[in-house]
Amino acid sequence: MLRLLCIGIVLSLVGSGLAQQSSSVPAQHSSHAASQATPSAEEIWNTLMAGNGRFVAGKPRSYELVPIRHRLASGQSPKAIVLACSDSRVGPELIFDETLGDLFVVRTAGNVADSVALGSIEYALDHLHSPLLVVLGHQACGAVTAACSGEKMPSSNLQAIVERINPAVAQAKTYAKGNDLIESAIKENVHQSAKDVLANSEIIRDAVKSGKLSVVEAEYELDSGKVVRLNSPASAKN
Ligand SMILES: [Zn+2]
Repeated sequence: MLRLLCIGIVLSLVGSGLAQQSSSVPAQHSSHAASQATPSAEEIWNTLMAGNGRFVAGKPRSYELVPIRHRLASGQSPKAIVLACSDSRVGPELIFDETLGDLFVVRTAGNVADSVALGSIEYALDHLHSPLLVVLGHQACGAVTAACSGEKMPSSNLQAIVERINPAVAQAKTYAKGNDLIESAIKENVHQSAKDVLANSEIIRDAVKSGKLSVVEAEYELDSGKVVRLNSPASAKN
């Protein structure tokens, strides 16, 4: 029963992806051609930052979710992929003031790019053609704080998260200590995840090389609500 259910989920995932792939390219081109050119990664990032500005100001858009939900039932075309921490205070759709269907979100504790996260990003890239990947860390990240503590985690699963973050902590320790260490390690960990994405996925690496995908590194400030970009537009493709 479970096996049948799993197969069903996989088939529907692949089926929707293939359907999306075969129909979305002409549909995307025709719909955008009628109104405007397909936005660049930089333009999409600017859209996300405008949404973050509304979120910070406490003036989010009001979305009519029922018609949006109905429209999306036949397929999705998210404008960006977001690799974010699972922290409950960091909901990407909320902090960028987007809605259903806008963001393909992959979340892991400490925004670590493990193989399942990479596979999820590859799926969005291959089948949904999103041109922007945002790697999003955040202030006071518990996973990074745990890695900074140097303590052994109580389970192998928790230890696996910390081990992904440890290189970032080691890098931060070369120039930061005390209270600055965690904040520096959080930024280094965003950079580390962005590096891991490219190092461990040929599909993503090729997409960046060919200009189909840009990677933006960013940190969300819990107190101000602002998302701050950590890498420059010029280095986003490196
Ligand atoms: Zn976190």
